[in-house]
Amino acid sequence: MKYILALDQGTTSSRSIIYDEFLQPVASAQREFTQHFPQPGWVEHDASEIWDSIVSTAREAVAKAGIKPQDIAAAGITNQRETVVVWDRATGEPVHPAIVWQDRRTGDFMDALRGEGKEALIQERTGLLLDPYFSASKIHWILGEIPNGHTRALVGELAVGTIDSWLIYKLSGGKTHVTDVSNASRTMLMNIRLGCWDAELLALFGIPEAVLPKIVSSSGRLAEIDASFLGHSVPICSAIGDQQSALFGQLCTRPGMVKCTYGTGCFLLVFTGAEAIASSNRLLTTVAWRIGDGRMEYALEGSVFMGGASIQWLRDGLGIIRSAPEVNELAARVPDSGGVVLVPAFTGLGAPYWDSAARGALLGMTRGTTAAHIARATLDGIAFQVADLVAAMEKDSAKKITTLRVDGGACASDLLMQTQADILGVEVECPSNIESTALGAAMLAGLGAGIWPDIDALSAIRNTERRFEAQTAPRDRKAKLKTWKRAVKRARKWETNL
Ligand code: ADP
Repeated sequence: MKYILALDQGTTSSRSIIYDEFLQPVASAQREFTQHFPQPGWVEHDASEIWDSIVSTAREAVAKAGIKPQDIAAAGITNQRETVVVWDRATGEPVHPAIVWQDRRTGDFMDALRGEGKEALIQERTGLLLDPYFSASKIHWILGEIPNGHTRALVGELAVGTIDSWLIYKLSGGKTHVTDVSNASRTMLMNIRLGCWDAELLALFGIPEAVLPKIVSSSGRLAEIDASFLGHSVPICSAIGDQQSALFGQLCTRPGMVKCTYGTGCFLLVFTGAEAIASSNRLLTTVAWRIGDGRMEYALEGSVFMGGASIQWLRDGLGIIRSAPEVNELAARVPDSGGVVLVPAFTGLGAPYWDSAARGALLGMTRGTTAAHIARATLDGIAFQVADLVAAMEKDSAKKITTLRVDGGACASDLLMQTQADILGVEVECPSNIESTALGAAMLAGLGAGIWPDIDALSAIRNTERRFEAQTAPRDRKAKLKTWKRAVKRARKWETNL
């Protein structure tokens, strides 16, 4: 039996999972690490703590699986995207805390670029919208902050990377400084059509190319894990950003196939194949992956900030449930929300609105409204936001979406999935293994190591466990969406102090 080690480096925890060659999980280990919030809007991680959490969980998973490290045919990495690490090449130590994707400190810098009229150029080259979320402004900030940052970067003393790049550097014992195309496409420094760093963008952000990793494929022989870590060297055969990995894990490998991950937020991606579709509806165009020597393939992406987090608010903010799964029992007590609409714009609205001044709104309440109606409206609110993303994708790609593949913690809710099918009028498919993110990295690593000859061989392994058919008449669906739109209008631009 051959095994694959998937390293899943997320925003709040690191996990290592060992899969067998039938993609069945054999053992896993997980470790949370510290979130640092030094100022309002700032979010940092200690890159050394992340590294420790990856090595220790990998060792633990191998021990639990009871296998020898030489039985691991390949390792694959999937990771939180956009977060940046800057380290000293001589010592291999970070020179500054990692700045996390959620960090807003470079908002003014991005506003200044907008003021200079750079938005169209950036969107055209990178597929991204002007926002501090992406890596470039964070790298600019760190190089400006540390003593002689720009000079040290220019002469090659410093190295920069997203989390995939940092982990590969450390795992290879400092030998390999690379990043995969999917992670590179989130830096705002790569030309997504050419797959190389863009000189004009590097100049705009004041980042010398010498500091950046080499861009490589998402699947193939990328590096070797040094024998000192697991007792035997293991080839690293994949690296891919978490959302793209989930897209692959769901085997959305034909153009038009869509997945939605329902975690804290919701991430919807449609695979568009060799075509990088420029969005007219404020979605992101992003690299899905490049496999071996193949061509780059693309996706359109949209996200919702408050997905499962809206359910957490019912638990922690309102206190009407004690645990997230209880929402289903409470919401099922009523046949519908009784006219109540929750717009979960607690932290603003993401695509396609991008309205940071929007705030949460609970509308349509009467004397008959109960906690059950509010719970039901919360599930509806998650599904309506995803429906807005689907509508934007259909406009951009000029294709009707017919099936939605789902994963993530909140897709455990049958009621939410049925609501989603009803609101969209499409079939919703949930696989038996909802850990699509780690699975995608394992599949790509196995392909890179030659365990499977091609993607078709993987299709035989994936299976759908639960299916939800739309049960609402199109007229009712339209009426519901119209009410939702009216509610969104009231929630928008609410905060006037921004
Ligand atoms: P993340 O990876 O973003 O931390 P997960 O994929 O672990 O998120 O999903 C966690 C989310 O799923 C939580 O926000 C929680 O509210 C929701 N959730 C977990 N179990 C259920 C359930 N049975 N029904 C509805 N929502 C759930």
